[in-house]
Amino acid sequence: KIAFLNGQFAPLAELKISVMDRGFLFGDGVYEMIPVYQRVAFRLDEHLVRLANNLAQVRIENPYSISAWREHIQALIHAQTFVDQSIYLQVSRGSAYPRQHAFPLEAMPTVLMFADELEPPPALAVECGVSAITCNDVRWQRCNIKAISLLANVLAKQEAVDAGVAEAILLRDGDLTEGAASNIFIVKDGVIYTPAPSNLMLTGITYDVILELAQQHDLPVTLAPVTEQMLRDADELWLTSSSKEVLAIVNLDGQAVGNGQVGPIYKIMYGLYQNFKMTVMHR
Ligand code: PLP
Repeated sequence: KIAFLNGQFAPLAELKISVMDRGFLFGDGVYEMIPVYQRVAFRLDEHLVRLANNLAQVRIENPYSISAWREHIQALIHAQTFVDQSIYLQVSRGSAYPRQHAFPLEAMPTVLMFADELEPPPALAVECGVSAITCNDVRWQRCNIKAISLLANVLAKQEAVDAGVAEAILLRDGDLTEGAASNIFIVKDGVIYTPAPSNLMLTGITYDVILELAQQHDLPVTLAPVTEQMLRDADELWLTSSSKEVLAIVNLDGQAVGNGQVGPIYKIMYGLYQNFKMTVMHR
Protein backbone atom coordinates (compact mmCIF):
# COMPACT_ATOMS: atom_id res chain seq x y z
CA LYS A 1 0.00 0.00 0.00
CA ILE A 2 1.37 3.37 -1.05
CA ALA A 3 0.97 6.11 1.54
CA PHE A 4 1.78 9.82 1.76
CA LEU A 5 3.95 11.47 4.39
CA ASN A 6 4.87 15.15 4.21
CA GLY A 7 4.75 15.39 0.44
CA GLN A 8 6.38 12.03 -0.34
CA PHE A 9 4.75 8.82 -1.54
CA ALA A 10 6.17 5.54 -0.20
CA PRO A 11 5.01 2.11 0.92
CA LEU A 12 3.08 2.47 4.20
CA ALA A 13 5.27 -0.09 5.98
CA GLU A 14 8.39 2.01 5.29
CA LEU A 15 7.09 5.31 6.71
CA LYS A 16 8.55 6.62 9.95
CA ILE A 17 7.82 9.68 12.07
CA SER A 18 9.59 11.12 15.10
CA VAL A 19 8.71 9.85 18.59
CA MET A 20 8.54 13.56 19.49
CA ASP A 21 5.60 14.07 17.13
CA ARG A 22 2.86 15.90 19.02
CA GLY A 23 0.27 13.65 17.42
CA PHE A 24 1.91 10.77 19.28
CA LEU A 25 2.72 12.61 22.54
CA PHE A 26 -0.39 14.78 22.95
CA GLY A 27 -2.98 13.59 20.44
CA ASP A 28 -2.42 17.08 19.03
CA GLY A 29 -3.91 16.91 15.57
CA VAL A 30 -7.01 16.45 13.44
CA TYR A 31 -8.07 13.90 10.85
CA GLU A 32 -10.52 12.94 8.13
CA MET A 33 -11.76 9.65 6.75
CA ILE A 34 -12.85 9.99 3.13
CA PRO A 35 -14.63 7.17 1.30
CA VAL A 36 -13.65 6.55 -2.33
CA TYR A 37 -15.93 4.67 -4.74
CA GLN A 38 -14.46 3.45 -8.06
CA ARG A 39 -11.53 5.84 -7.48
CA VAL A 40 -13.84 8.85 -7.01
CA ALA A 41 -13.57 10.53 -3.59
CA PHE A 42 -17.07 11.04 -2.16
CA ARG A 43 -17.84 14.58 -0.98
CA LEU A 44 -14.16 15.48 -1.18
CA ASP A 45 -14.65 19.25 -1.03
CA GLU A 46 -16.86 18.94 2.05
CA HIS A 47 -14.17 16.86 3.77
CA LEU A 48 -11.48 19.38 2.82
CA VAL A 49 -13.57 22.30 4.06
CA ARG A 50 -14.20 20.49 7.38
CA LEU A 51 -10.46 19.76 7.62
CA ALA A 52 -9.62 23.43 7.02
CA ASN A 53 -12.13 24.50 9.69
CA ASN A 54 -10.78 21.93 12.17
CA LEU A 55 -7.19 23.05 11.56
CA ALA A 56 -8.23 26.66 12.16
CA GLN A 57 -10.02 25.65 15.40
CA VAL A 58 -6.87 24.02 16.79
CA ARG A 59 -4.60 26.72 15.32
CA ILE A 60 -2.54 24.47 13.05
CA GLU A 61 -1.71 26.18 9.79
CA ASN A 62 -3.26 24.35 6.85
CA PRO A 63 -0.24 22.85 5.07
CA TYR A 64 -1.93 22.82 1.64
CA SER A 65 -4.42 24.75 -0.44
CA ILE A 66 -7.65 22.93 -1.30
CA SER A 67 -6.37 22.32 -4.83
CA ALA A 68 -3.04 20.92 -3.55
CA TRP A 69 -4.96 18.60 -1.18
CA ARG A 70 -7.07 17.46 -4.11
CA GLU A 71 -3.99 16.67 -6.19
CA HIS A 72 -2.25 14.72 -3.43
CA ILE A 73 -5.41 12.76 -2.71
CA GLN A 74 -5.93 11.96 -6.41
CA ALA A 75 -2.35 10.72 -6.62
CA LEU A 76 -2.83 8.57 -3.51
CA ILE A 77 -6.06 7.09 -4.90
CA HIS A 78 -4.39 6.21 -8.20
CA ALA A 79 -1.39 4.65 -6.46
CA GLN A 80 -3.59 1.87 -5.02
CA THR A 81 -4.48 -1.40 -6.73
CA PHE A 82 -8.05 -1.43 -5.32
CA VAL A 83 -10.78 0.98 -6.45
CA ASP A 84 -13.05 1.31 -3.38
CA GLN A 85 -11.01 2.93 -0.66
CA SER A 86 -11.14 4.70 2.64
CA ILE A 87 -8.55 7.44 2.80
CA TYR A 88 -7.30 8.21 6.29
CA LEU A 89 -5.75 11.68 6.47
CA GLN A 90 -4.22 13.25 9.56
CA VAL A 91 -2.41 16.47 10.31
CA SER A 92 -0.56 16.80 13.61
CA ARG A 93 1.15 19.89 14.96
CA GLY A 94 4.49 18.25 14.14
CA SER A 95 7.46 17.20 16.23
CA ALA A 96 9.32 19.40 18.70
CA TYR A 97 11.85 18.98 21.49
CA PRO A 98 11.63 19.36 24.47
CA ARG A 99 8.15 18.07 25.19
CA GLN A 100 5.97 20.91 26.41
CA HIS A 101 2.27 21.53 26.20
CA ALA A 102 2.32 24.99 24.61
CA PHE A 103 2.70 25.24 20.84
CA PRO A 104 6.32 24.91 19.75
CA LEU A 105 7.70 28.02 18.05
CA GLU A 106 9.03 26.08 15.12
CA ALA A 107 7.28 22.93 14.08
CA MET A 108 6.11 21.80 10.68
CA PRO A 109 2.77 19.95 10.69
CA THR A 110 3.10 16.23 10.01
CA VAL A 111 0.78 15.16 7.18
CA LEU A 112 0.00 11.47 6.85
CA MET A 113 -2.42 9.82 4.42
CA PHE A 114 -3.01 6.19 3.63
CA ALA A 115 -5.68 4.17 1.88
CA ASP A 116 -7.42 1.00 3.00
CA GLU A 117 -9.73 -1.14 0.95
CA LEU A 118 -13.29 0.01 1.66
CA GLU A 119 -15.72 -2.79 2.42
CA PRO A 120 -19.37 -1.78 2.19
CA PRO A 121 -21.41 -2.59 5.31
CA PRO A 122 -22.35 -6.30 5.24
CA ALA A 123 -25.66 -7.12 3.54
CA LEU A 124 -26.89 -8.71 6.77
CA ALA A 125 -26.39 -5.43 8.69
CA VAL A 126 -28.24 -3.51 5.97
CA GLU A 127 -31.12 -5.98 5.77
CA CYS A 128 -31.56 -6.88 9.43
CA GLY A 129 -30.07 -3.90 11.26
CA VAL A 130 -27.55 -3.86 14.12
CA SER A 131 -27.64 -3.49 17.90
CA ALA A 132 -26.31 -0.72 20.12
CA ILE A 133 -25.92 0.24 23.75
CA THR A 134 -26.10 3.65 25.42
CA CYS A 135 -23.09 5.13 27.23
CA ASN A 136 -22.46 8.24 29.22
CA ASP A 137 -20.83 10.91 27.02
CA VAL A 138 -17.78 11.86 29.10
CA ARG A 139 -15.97 13.78 26.34
CA TRP A 140 -14.82 17.39 26.34
CA GLN A 141 -16.86 20.37 25.15
CA ARG A 142 -15.35 20.62 21.66
CA CYS A 143 -16.56 17.42 20.02
CA ASN A 144 -17.25 19.39 16.82
CA ILE A 145 -13.49 19.16 16.16
CA LYS A 146 -12.44 15.92 14.47
CA ALA A 147 -9.47 15.57 16.82
CA ILE A 148 -7.17 12.54 16.80
CA SER A 149 -7.38 12.42 20.63
CA LEU A 150 -10.15 9.83 20.72
CA LEU A 151 -9.66 8.05 24.05
CA ALA A 152 -13.24 8.57 25.26
CA ASN A 153 -14.58 7.38 21.88
CA VAL A 154 -12.24 4.37 21.97
CA LEU A 155 -13.44 3.38 25.46
CA ALA A 156 -17.10 3.79 24.47
CA LYS A 157 -16.62 1.72 21.29
CA GLN A 158 -14.90 -1.00 23.31
CA GLU A 159 -17.87 -1.09 25.70
CA ALA A 160 -20.03 -1.76 22.64
CA VAL A 161 -17.68 -4.50 21.41
CA ASP A 162 -17.58 -6.06 24.89
CA ALA A 163 -21.40 -6.07 24.87
CA GLY A 164 -21.38 -7.72 21.43
CA VAL A 165 -23.04 -4.77 19.67
CA ALA A 166 -22.13 -2.47 16.79
CA GLU A 167 -22.17 0.99 18.36
CA ALA A 168 -22.26 2.96 21.61
CA ILE A 169 -24.79 5.80 21.59
CA LEU A 170 -23.68 8.68 23.77
CA LEU A 171 -25.96 10.57 26.17
CA ARG A 172 -24.97 13.84 27.80
CA ASP A 173 -27.19 15.27 30.53
CA GLY A 174 -30.06 13.11 29.33
CA ASP A 175 -29.81 14.05 25.65
CA LEU A 176 -28.44 12.18 22.66
CA THR A 177 -25.22 13.61 21.25
CA GLU A 178 -23.98 11.03 18.71
CA GLY A 179 -22.40 7.57 18.44
CA ALA A 180 -18.83 6.71 19.41
CA ALA A 181 -17.98 6.93 15.68
CA SER A 182 -21.24 7.96 14.01
CA ASN A 183 -24.17 10.37 14.05
CA ILE A 184 -27.58 9.17 15.22
CA PHE A 185 -31.07 9.80 13.83
CA ILE A 186 -34.45 8.65 15.13
CA VAL A 187 -37.82 8.38 13.41
CA LYS A 188 -41.08 8.91 15.31
CA ASP A 189 -44.50 8.99 13.64
CA GLY A 190 -42.91 9.52 10.24
CA VAL A 191 -40.70 12.43 11.30
CA ILE A 192 -36.88 12.18 11.31
CA TYR A 193 -35.24 13.78 14.37
CA THR A 194 -31.56 14.41 14.99
CA PRO A 195 -29.65 16.88 17.17
CA ALA A 196 -28.74 20.16 15.46
CA PRO A 197 -24.98 20.66 14.98
CA SER A 198 -23.31 21.92 18.15
CA ASN A 199 -20.00 21.82 19.98
CA LEU A 200 -21.15 18.53 21.58
CA MET A 201 -21.04 16.49 18.37
CA LEU A 202 -19.16 16.12 15.13
CA THR A 203 -21.18 17.27 12.14
CA GLY A 204 -20.70 14.23 9.91
CA ILE A 205 -20.37 14.55 6.17
CA THR A 206 -22.88 11.69 6.00
CA TYR A 207 -25.18 13.53 8.47
CA ASP A 208 -25.28 16.44 6.00
CA VAL A 209 -25.96 14.10 3.06
CA ILE A 210 -28.86 12.46 4.94
CA LEU A 211 -30.39 15.87 5.73
CA GLU A 212 -30.02 16.98 2.10
CA LEU A 213 -31.61 13.78 0.79
CA ALA A 214 -34.48 14.07 3.27
CA GLN A 215 -35.13 17.63 2.17
CA GLN A 216 -34.94 16.82 -1.55
CA HIS A 217 -37.41 13.97 -1.16
CA ASP A 218 -39.86 15.71 1.20
CA LEU A 219 -39.16 13.49 4.19
CA PRO A 220 -39.99 15.59 7.26
CA VAL A 221 -36.97 16.37 9.45
CA THR A 222 -36.77 18.18 12.78
CA LEU A 223 -33.37 19.30 14.10
CA ALA A 224 -33.98 19.31 17.84
CA PRO A 225 -32.65 17.85 21.08
CA VAL A 226 -33.36 14.11 21.26
CA THR A 227 -33.96 13.05 24.84
CA GLU A 228 -33.18 9.61 26.20
CA GLN A 229 -36.94 8.97 26.34
CA MET A 230 -37.34 9.88 22.63
CA LEU A 231 -34.44 7.55 21.81
CA ARG A 232 -36.08 4.66 23.67
CA ASP A 233 -39.56 5.36 22.27
CA ALA A 234 -38.38 5.77 18.67
CA ASP A 235 -40.00 3.83 15.83
CA GLU A 236 -36.65 3.72 14.04
CA LEU A 237 -33.07 4.44 15.01
CA TRP A 238 -30.23 4.94 12.49
CA LEU A 239 -26.50 5.51 12.65
CA THR A 240 -24.58 7.25 9.87
CA SER A 241 -20.91 7.57 9.00
CA SER A 242 -18.67 7.63 5.95
CA SER A 243 -17.77 3.96 6.36
CA LYS A 244 -21.11 2.61 7.69
CA GLU A 245 -23.22 4.80 5.35
CA VAL A 246 -26.63 4.47 7.03
CA LEU A 247 -27.52 1.47 9.20
CA ALA A 248 -30.67 0.75 11.18
CA ILE A 249 -30.29 0.03 14.89
CA VAL A 250 -33.01 -2.46 15.81
CA ASN A 251 -32.00 -3.20 19.39
CA LEU A 252 -30.91 -0.71 22.05
CA ASP A 253 -29.65 -1.87 25.45
CA GLY A 254 -31.28 -5.25 24.82
CA GLN A 255 -34.72 -3.79 23.98
CA ALA A 256 -36.31 -3.84 20.51
CA VAL A 257 -36.39 -0.46 18.76
CA GLY A 258 -39.95 0.02 17.44
CA ASN A 259 -41.08 -3.42 16.28
CA GLY A 260 -37.47 -4.65 16.21
CA GLN A 261 -37.37 -4.69 12.40
CA VAL A 262 -35.65 -2.43 9.90
CA GLY A 263 -38.17 0.40 9.35
CA PRO A 264 -39.80 1.78 6.20
CA ILE A 265 -38.19 5.25 6.34
CA TYR A 266 -34.79 3.60 6.77
CA LYS A 267 -35.37 1.58 3.62
CA ILE A 268 -36.25 4.73 1.68
CA MET A 269 -33.21 6.57 3.00
CA TYR A 270 -30.87 3.65 2.33
CA GLY A 271 -32.07 3.57 -1.29
CA LEU A 272 -31.67 7.32 -1.68
CA TYR A 273 -28.14 7.13 -0.28
CA GLN A 274 -27.13 4.33 -2.66
CA ASN A 275 -28.55 6.24 -5.65
CA PHE A 276 -26.76 9.37 -4.58
CA LYS A 277 -23.45 7.48 -4.34
CA MET A 278 -24.00 6.21 -7.90
CA THR A 279 -24.70 9.64 -9.38
CA VAL A 280 -21.51 10.95 -7.80
CA MET A 281 -19.47 8.04 -9.17
CA HIS A 282 -20.73 8.56 -12.71
CA ARG A 283 -20.39 12.31 -12.77
N1 PLP B 1 -19.23 11.39 14.98
C1 PLP B 1 -18.07 10.81 15.32
C2 PLP B 1 -17.61 10.90 16.74
C3 PLP B 1 -17.30 10.15 14.35
O1 PLP B 1 -16.13 9.58 14.68
C4 PLP B 1 -17.79 10.07 13.02
C5 PLP B 1 -17.05 9.37 11.97
O2 PLP B 1 -16.22 8.54 12.19
C6 PLP B 1 -19.02 10.66 12.73
C7 PLP B 1 -19.71 11.33 13.72
C8 PLP B 1 -19.58 10.61 11.33
O3 PLP B 1 -18.86 11.47 10.48
P1 PLP B 1 -18.77 11.24 8.90
O4 PLP B 1 -20.18 11.11 8.40
O5 PLP B 1 -18.10 12.47 8.41
O6 PLP B 1 -17.98 10.00 8.68
